[in-house]
Order: sequence, then C-alpha cells, then structure tokens
Amino acid sequence: SVIAAEIESREIASKAVEQDARHVWHHLTRHAGQESMVVVKGEGMRVWDAQGNEYLDAVSGAVWTVNVGYGRTEIADAVRDQLVTMNYFAQTAGNIPAAQFAERLLEKMPGMSRVYYSNSGSEANEKAFKMVRQIAAKKYGGKKHKILYRERDYHGTTISCLSATGQFERKHQYGPFTPGFVEVPHCCEYRSQWGEVDDYGVRAANEIERIILEEGPDTVGAICLEPITAGGGVIEPPEGYWPRVQEICQQYNVLLHIDEVVCGLGRTGTWFGYQHYGIEPDFVTMAKGVASGYAAISCTVTNDKVFNLLHDDDGDGRMDYFRDISTFGGCTAGPAAALVNLEIIERENLLENVQQQGEYLRQRLLALKDKYPLIGDVRGKGLFMGFELVKDRVSKEPVDESVAMAVAGHCMQNGVIIGRTNRSFADFNNTLCLSPALIATRADIDAIVDAIDNAVCCVSQ
Ligand code: PMP
Repeated sequence: SVIAAEIESREIASKAVEQDARHVWHHLTRHAGQESMVVVKGEGMRVWDAQGNEYLDAVSGAVWTVNVGYGRTEIADAVRDQLVTMNYFAQTAGNIPAAQFAERLLEKMPGMSRVYYSNSGSEANEKAFKMVRQIAAKKYGGKKHKILYRERDYHGTTISCLSATGQFERKHQYGPFTPGFVEVPHCCEYRSQWGEVDDYGVRAANEIERIILEEGPDTVGAICLEPITAGGGVIEPPEGYWPRVQEICQQYNVLLHIDEVVCGLGRTGTWFGYQHYGIEPDFVTMAKGVASGYAAISCTVTNDKVFNLLHDDDGDGRMDYFRDISTFGGCTAGPAAALVNLEIIERENLLENVQQQGEYLRQRLLALKDKYPLIGDVRGKGLFMGFELVKDRVSKEPVDESVAMAVAGHCMQNGVIIGRTNRSFADFNNTLCLSPALIATRADIDAIVDAIDNAVCCVSQ
C-alpha cells in the first residue's frame, strides 16, 4: 500500500503539471515557451518538484520568504489548532495570537508601540501611505502629503506601491500612477552617479535634502526606504547614509518609513535590517519572513507619535481615527504562525547563525570575485547577498540578461535554486541574488557557492 500511495501521489503530481500549464497564470512569467516548476514538497532547505527532482533552495521560496525553512510541523500544528478553535473574526475585535504576537514582536523593536495587521507587503506599505496622507490632512491642512521613495527600491505591486517604486521594469505600462510620490537617487556606490567621491553615503543622503527643499519641506510628509534595497540589486547604503537620513528627517519633520518586507525577521542577522544602523523609524512594514510563508500575514508597525497623531481630537471627532480595514488581516492563522516562527528564530539562535554563515557566504563570494572577472561586485549583509555580472571590470558594463539567466539556469540544472533575473528581481538584470533560509549550514553555503563557481566557470568560457 506504501507503493500504491507513492504511485497515486506521482500521478497527482504529473496531472498537476498539466493542470498548471493549462490553467494557471504565473507571477512574473512570460509564459511563451517558459516552463514553470511545480513544487510538491519542502523539507529544511530543500524542495522537490513534480518530477521528483531535489533542489537546494538558496532563495527561500524564490522571493526570500521561508526564513525558518520548509516542513516545520510545529507551525502547521499551531495554525491547525488555532483554526479549529477560532478561525476568524475581523480585527475590529482582538484575538489571542494577534495580541500575543504583537507583544513578542514589539519586544524586538524598542521605540515602536503598535501593530496594524494585513496580508502582504504591498498592503502593509499601503496602510503606512494612508496614515501619512491622513496625518497630512488632519495636521497640516493636506499640505504635508508627499512621500519620497528611492530609485531602485521596490515597495509592492499595487498602483500606489508601484508609484513608490524606483524600478522602471516594474512600472512600465502600469501608469498613470498615484500623485504625490517623488523619487530620490539610489545609493549604490558601485554605480555612483557622481564618479568617485569621498563620503558617497553622505553625498547620496544629501540628495534627499535637496529634493525636500525643491519640493518644499511643508509638502513632504514621509520617506519610504528599504534598509537594504532587495529586488533592485541588493544595495546596502554606504557608511554615513543612515545618520544623515535620520538628521534630514528630523530637521524637516519628515516621517521615516522603513520597508522591512525582505530584511525583517532575521534575514540580515538582526531582527530588523534598520537595527544595524541605529535608525529610529516612525513606520516599519514587514511581511515575507513574519510567518515564513506558513500563512499570509503582514504588519505595519508604528510608534506612539504616529498612533497619537491619528487619534487625538482635532475637532472632527467622527473622523478622528484610521478608517481602514483589511478583512483577513491578523485573523488568525497568520499571527498563530508568526508566533511560532519568532520562537523558532529565538530558540535555534538563528540570528547568530545568520551572522556566522552570512560572513562565510560573503568570504566565499569575494573569493569567486577574485577568480572570475565576470563578477563585478559582491554586496549584501547576513544571509542576503547579491553579485553583479559585468562584461568588463573597468567599464562595469552589465552583461546581457541572457548571461545572468545562463548562470542561474546552470545552477538549477545542478540542483541549486538562486535568484533568477529573468523574473525581474533586479532592474538591472545582471544581479543574481542569494537568500537561503536562516538555518543554512556551512555545508549548505558550500554547496550553493560551489554550484555558482561551476556555473560562472562554464559561462565565462
Ligand atoms: N517591499 C519589498 C521590499 C519587497 O521586496 C516586496 C516583495 N518582493 C514587497 C514590498 C511587496 O510584498 P508583497 O509581494 O507581499 O505584496
């Protein structure tokens, strides 16, 4: 009967491949001639497709999400128990896992005090944008409504999140966009806009001040930034950038919104990316790693300042609150999964693991850079790294997308999934990305980098 069950599950999987090809419209997929993998099982760092092929997943579910790894039965059990006891009631009321998770989360975020639940990174960012707009309306006669965002950053898929996104490829053909979003320059020193400058970080941050002055400080309400730009090419702002950003925000009374959708929950070796830089944000948004993909959940976390601005009485009592609801936000599978996810990160000391393995990963990638002129730059922090492929080290001209695809394709053939640029992770399609689960061992890192070594060697010839 074990054999019969095995045969049946294989039949189901191969039928799913046909059903998928016929009926499912995949995300970020060209479809014409492009075959999509159908996944059937995950365990730890590994996934299996419908044909039974095994892969080492170096990107945590393609988009840096499954932080604690696949197959965590204790999360599944917690979700099941919660659903049986109390599956749903809107967040107009409280529920036990939502209350418990909020407390545990805020313990990790000194200075922050409130958690607003929704279902995806985009939605979490939309909530913050709406809060900024409402604060502008309530406190500044609608004037301080503009939101700055940075070239190369990504903040989500809705029209307003795209309006706040600095990637041409994501925005092309989806306009017109929401008014009131203003772009500031990127801060990738390797692609410096000003040639070689001392203090590039400060120089790049000063651009924010220039734009605030150009727009008028009384019109700018907030700035939304990724702590480390993810999909736009894994860009960690250079030294000097963050202190200057914080200073500018204070000087011009601009709220600071940090988008931790990728970096949140341990990816870079601290609970949140912003905690490396001593930043004091007003909004922190998070999604992917919050429940590692075991349930849909996102959070818009704010400090007292934001909460109080939206709740104090300015004479229009009936309207004095955040008039927003998200039907599924915080109910209840998401926070139940998130609670156990957070406990696993703590219990298994995954932050330390990320620091150690991340450093090892960086060293190994830097060694590859020494070996192959094709690798122009290695960037990132913790278990969140990217490397740029260039035609020439001096001109830094990016390789064609097909070269980056060939490297990723080669890794895949050898059983290692890395960030595939044909699915537009990067605006420049020459950056490949790695974001293995936070449980990665030294042996996993070796297997990932060996596959890249092999692939770059083949493609370089
Ligand atoms: N912000 C960042 C930094 C992201 O990388 C993403 C997703 N890749 C989002 C927001 C949007 O999240 P979601 O796809 O869950 O809406």
